[in-house]
Amino acid sequence: MDKQNRQVVIAGNWKMNKNAAETTALLNEMTSIIKDADCKVLLCVPAINISTAVEAVKGSCIEIGAQNCHWATNGAFTGEISADMLKSFGIKYAIIGHSERRQYFGETDKTVNMRSLACLENGITPIICVGENLEEREKDITKDVIKTQIEAGLAGFTSEQLHNTIIAYEPVWAIGTGKTATAEQAEEVCAYIRQLLGEIFCPNCAKKVTIQYGGSMNASNAKELLSMPNIDGGLIGGASLKAVDFNTIVESAK
Ligand code: PEP
Repeated sequence: MDKQNRQVVIAGNWKMNKNAAETTALLNEMTSIIKDADCKVLLCVPAINISTAVEAVKGSCIEIGAQNCHWATNGAFTGEISADMLKSFGIKYAIIGHSERRQYFGETDKTVNMRSLACLENGITPIICVGENLEEREKDITKDVIKTQIEAGLAGFTSEQLHNTIIAYEPVWAIGTGKTATAEQAEEVCAYIRQLLGEIFCPNCAKKVTIQYGGSMNASNAKELLSMPNIDGGLIGGASLKAVDFNTIVESAK
């Protein structure tokens, strides 16, 4: 299965931005201009705004996703949100293991694995983020870092669970910095991720997986990045907070 047969997913990550009224206003703007998308279009909003956001995109081609999900169904986990709760709002996608969660909130490959499995058990597609930091890239250990994150993050997955998973390659040095990986750098790692998935699962299983690039993707560089053979979409932070720019990225996926 080649690129044209995989699902292209353009996902925005709003991080900790927009209150309820701002969420509705920006989504109204987005739904009025993003109309004939050729790909899946997703906006992952802060958990507290999920219900507002779901309401605002009703009848449009935009779906709402979450930015995290706990591994337990319920219990004494103050501040956390379960897959069952997300499911009750119709949420079908959740970002898991974003580098900001790993850096500021102690997320590890083990918790990424547990959170992802909880998503999958509840019909939610985890968007599992992996990526090296600047020091690791400079030491030339990018592939080792990715291998560890993929092997541990996807431990115990069945082939069917892999098929319902998205991998986002997000070099940490490119997130929110304005420094984008070149299309060749991004393609090299995305191709390596697909090779690894082929070795861990099976080559055919790997061919079906959507692999996104994320890290300062914007209206100007999206087309080139999205044209690479192993890049099936984008995870977009800053540019997903601007309706016109985000629409240009969605259009670039055509
Ligand atoms: C992100 O938050 O996943 C991201 C890629 O952010 P930015 O596009 O702003 O670099």
